[in-house]
Amino acid sequence: MATKGIFRVECTACGESFDADFWTVVRGDRDRDVKELILSGEFDLLMCPKCSAMIQHEEPFLYIDPPKDILAFVMPESYEAEKEKWIGRLSADFEPVRATLAGGQGISGEPLYLFGLGPLSALLENDRDREEETEVMEFMAREDGLHLKPVKPAMARELNILFSLPMQAGLTGRAAAVKAAEALYARNDALPRLKKLLEVLGSLKDEGIPFIKN
Ligand SMILES: [Zn+2]
Repeated sequence: MATKGIFRVECTACGESFDADFWTVVRGDRDRDVKELILSGEFDLLMCPKCSAMIQHEEPFLYIDPPKDILAFVMPESYEAEKEKWIGRLSADFEPVRATLAGGQGISGEPLYLFGLGPLSALLENDRDREEETEVMEFMAREDGLHLKPVKPAMARELNILFSLPMQAGLTGRAAAVKAAEALYARNDALPRLKKLLEVLGSLKDEGIPFIKN
């Protein structure tokens, strides 16, 4: 599913120029191997065919993960000096295809404009932590016969809560979610995002929970 393009690269060690493949579109939900390369920092490493030096070379690419609500334009770190120009250009290009690309793929949030791989791998690592904590909570919730409701991923990141929330069986609404979350937190207080969920639920004005994904 990953889409590749060929770019001319010059080796920083010996000066040889050669053609190299780069991903132009990465589907985070499907291209697991490519996602691993981003997390391990090997994504933009190339080997020079002449002197075998490992060189780093960045090209812009689009990272999309619809189930996780991510659509990110990832640009080389050096583009950050002209940040406004690049964001302006990309958002103008993106506007006409927004409906098909974002809507059709089920992405609700705004696109992200990232410079360098650092911010993307930080986001993916953070998501991985959130996923692990969510799995622990879900395991406990199932043991207690609680139901689970998915949280909109972009809201989970923004509020720093879990990717799902527990709910008393057969019920809906804030009070039932608070009771379920309190019961789980009483069993395991080592889940910071569950604690945060309780705070967020406590601050809601009425019974509706705006961050549940329908
Ligand atoms: Zn070389």
